[in-house]
Amino acid sequence: MTRRSFLSLFSALGLAPKMAAANHEPPPAGIEPLRLSDAEWKKRLTPTQFDVLRDEGTERPFTSPLNDEKRAGRYLCAGCGLPLFTSAMKFDSGTGWPSFHSTLPGAVQTSTDFKLLLPRTEYHCARCGGHHGHVFNDGPAPTGKRYCNNGVALTFEAAS
Ligand SMILES: [Zn+2]
Repeated sequence: MTRRSFLSLFSALGLAPKMAAANHEPPPAGIEPLRLSDAEWKKRLTPTQFDVLRDEGTERPFTSPLNDEKRAGRYLCAGCGLPLFTSAMKFDSGTGWPSFHSTLPGAVQTSTDFKLLLPRTEYHCARCGGHHGHVFNDGPAPTGKRYCNNGVALTFEAAS
């Protein structure tokens, strides 16, 4: 089943409006929103980045070089450059996706998606609305959360 037919199924069930509304939440104070058309995003992003960030795709596990990134630094949204995580928040989850137990304050917003039928908490960049991954409650201390992030949606900036 394609994503589109999922969406029409959910819209028939009355669930779609909730999903659609989530990405239009205003960003927190101090974060200037970045809204571009699909055509503009296609110019800025690689096809894989577009698939993840703008179409909520998921990269294949164990494909991102950022899985093995251990240097000190920050992880920025590949769509708009907003810093989302620091290297101190990263841990090795063994899932094949870069994983973090925390985010920088206000950097991401969440919504519920039903793509796998069971509800999951999707999160996206607070500035550009780009989808990054899903957050689960089986992470390590101090938060117990696991932000499972598509590596292609991030760029790494090593500390100078
Ligand atoms: Zn962004």
